[in-house]
Amino acid sequence: MRIGLVDVDGHAKKKKWGATVYPNLALCKIARHHKSLGDEVEWAIPFYHYDIIYMSKVFNFTPDDLTVYDAETIIKGGTGYDICSKLPDEIDRLQPDYSIYPHIPKNTAYGFLTRGCPNKCPWCVVPRKEGFIRPYMDVDEIAIEGRKHLVLMDNNILAAGDYAKEQMWKIIERGYRVDFNQALDARLVTDDFALLLAKMKWIDRRIRFGCDTHKQIAECERAIALINSHGYKGEYFLYTMLNDNFDECYKRTHYWWERNHRCREEHKPNIYPYAQPYRDPDNPNRPIPLWQKDMAQWVNKHQIFQMTDFANFEPRKGFKCSEHFK
Ligand code: SF4
Repeated sequence: MRIGLVDVDGHAKKKKWGATVYPNLALCKIARHHKSLGDEVEWAIPFYHYDIIYMSKVFNFTPDDLTVYDAETIIKGGTGYDICSKLPDEIDRLQPDYSIYPHIPKNTAYGFLTRGCPNKCPWCVVPRKEGFIRPYMDVDEIAIEGRKHLVLMDNNILAAGDYAKEQMWKIIERGYRVDFNQALDARLVTDDFALLLAKMKWIDRRIRFGCDTHKQIAECERAIALINSHGYKGEYFLYTMLNDNFDECYKRTHYWWERNHRCREEHKPNIYPYAQPYRDPDNPNRPIPLWQKDMAQWVNKHQIFQMTDFANFEPRKGFKCSEHFK
């Protein structure tokens, strides 16, 4: 059979601004499955005929691919199409075939140690999509083909308790370098976890936390101090969701702006916030307020963030963000 793949989010293409380009794991597993059956697998090309085309979309805000493909069957899947869509178990358990993404470094693998989350944050689709937290794969099953850099996309690894600790010890013993790229929950950093996090090797020397509410600032500070007390010398990266409350978002991002200035003066490693406007999972067309776009730009352009306060930031000619305060 001839199989065509479509990565609707466009991860197959190189993105601007040097943004990290992640492989679509579902397509990698589908590729592995069909190759094991002796099928031909390639990125779908318009006007070619395929037996099956798989279209996968992770984000609900990605516009659909409206190309007219020629196939006996077209299967659409991924959270971007349907929040409940899942691969059949026998495909889900396969190792991804990274060869469909030739730009992915040969030393890097992607995966999940756990699925699900015990929390129910109102803005998040994970509890609805994946349910309660549970073990999913062993780290050695992810580190295939001698790949030692592991991008682990767990939604809340620290909530997995002893299983998380066991996996982290394995990561340390094997010398894997990791990135928990969906961020850690600072509230769950106990002294045991802090020791493990300080001992692990990190891709880009960076530990990520979520800082989506004002309350989480104190939790992030507590976790950072605890991890540093165990000898960690790297940086921190904080996902900072922008909600509809301008005042709260400004105070939260400004807190890290000031903190960063102090770090630089004291020659301490930086703490990088990364701001993302809230995306409504049930309404992908909900407009993003201009102040959120400007604030995200201010925070995420690190050179500007280092130099300029939000009020003085000029995202457009003749427009200063001090206007947003009026
Ligand atoms: S802790 Fe993270 S993964 Fe869990 S529900 Fe909240 S935002 Fe989602």
